[in-house]
Amino acid sequence: MYQVISLKYRPQNFDEITGQNHVVISLKGAIKRGRVGHAYLFAGPRGVGKTTTARILAKSLNCVEGPTTQPCQHCQSCMEITRSRSIDVIEIDGASNRGIDEIRNLRESVRYSPIHSRYKIYIIDEVHMLTQEAFNALLKTLEEPPPNVVFIFATTNPIKVPQTILSRCERFTFKRLSAAEIKDRLTDIARKEGIKITEKALHYIAVRADGSIRDGESILEQLTSFTENEISAEDVFRLIGFLGSDFYFELLNKISNNKLNEVLSALNQGIEDGADPVEIYRGLTNYLRTLLLVKTGLVDKFLDLSDEEIKRLKDFPIDVERLIVMIEMALKKEDFIRKSLNTRIGLELLLSQLTILNPGSAGTSDSRSEKEQGLKERLFRTVKKASPKLAGIISQAKIDRDNELIDIKVDNDFSLEQLKKSQTVLKTYLNEITGCDCRLKIHLAEEQKSETGLMDKIKVMFDGEEIR
Ligand SMILES: [Zn+2]
Repeated sequence: MYQVISLKYRPQNFDEITGQNHVVISLKGAIKRGRVGHAYLFAGPRGVGKTTTARILAKSLNCVEGPTTQPCQHCQSCMEITRSRSIDVIEIDGASNRGIDEIRNLRESVRYSPIHSRYKIYIIDEVHMLTQEAFNALLKTLEEPPPNVVFIFATTNPIKVPQTILSRCERFTFKRLSAAEIKDRLTDIARKEGIKITEKALHYIAVRADGSIRDGESILEQLTSFTENEISAEDVFRLIGFLGSDFYFELLNKISNNKLNEVLSALNQGIEDGADPVEIYRGLTNYLRTLLLVKTGLVDKFLDLSDEEIKRLKDFPIDVERLIVMIEMALKKEDFIRKSLNTRIGLELLLSQLTILNPGSAGTSDSRSEKEQGLKERLFRTVKKASPKLAGIISQAKIDRDNELIDIKVDNDFSLEQLKKSQTVLKTYLNEITGCDCRLKIHLAEEQKSETGLMDKIKVMFDGEEIR
């Protein structure tokens, strides 16, 4: 009979549990010392092995050779627990009907001794979902626990479990698994199942599983029914619409090189590959953040990055200041993209702005002044229609741009006065031309350029004013 991967490879003893060494060591220690508690709380994210560990603990306690840290797997008790058929190991799902009937039954049944086994064990999953009434009933039992009864509560949300219950439990916190741990486990399963799959595909599944071994196994399972050939990274993307770091690296590369049409066609390709615009938005902001962390040397073990990834991010030609501006812009657009009726348009707008705003640190000063000349010509043409006089002043002015700051220098008081009078309308034109909310600085050319330095950049970045 065909068995799904997650069932077939569900760990059956403590040594097979992935990534929860701290829990396993404590539980084994308690069993060896004969210090088995009445109630345990297993807290942690979904899909990290809480119920699996609860069943292994049950097996260890009830095995004919037990209590033992190495249940035999062959006695009646071990085999029944493996098949979820043990009459003395009762599993209750707190989420299914919030447990009212079950807890009522529990209060009755808990008084009777186990039938075939050493302990009567109640495993209550998602215990935080129980009703207040069910909690009260449970508390009465926990206050005077009958001998030979063990409760194992599992929860993804321990904050919602009443303190009165928590205080009677030994608590174990399960952690999210790292991508490397999930990848190791999936590699092992693939080898045993004879599944042909590339390293890269395994890596992407592991990253996408986001800490949950169960999700990782379920994606691998789906992929095996999806293709007969060797599973590639592209298969992973096609199935789960997940774009890997290569996608974001390339996208960012195009953004920083001001290739707007390439940026938009990469987005188009990503969406055609099945990614949701909100997912791309999230992936991009995460990637920008990761890049910032790497650039500032704050990369740590939680980032789960390979050495090659760290190296290419370190070498990415972009400066930290510009990166901060980009992250800030992206974050500002979050609500806009999420709530927009057409999330794709929202994302296209953001990508366009990031591309236009970012002159690209790889660009030479020549291409930079070329861009400014472009900017000046467009402003001149726009202004000319409304006011030829103003356009004449613009044509004589020097216009510099640094992200959202537009610096206009003129060489006489008359021009200065005229431009300052028309500031509002100039700003409107410039906003239209650049697609961003510009700040204008209009001044005489004699002023030293150094004054338009860091302070102005900081003001733009934090949208602030200088106070004296
Ligand atoms: Zn056994």
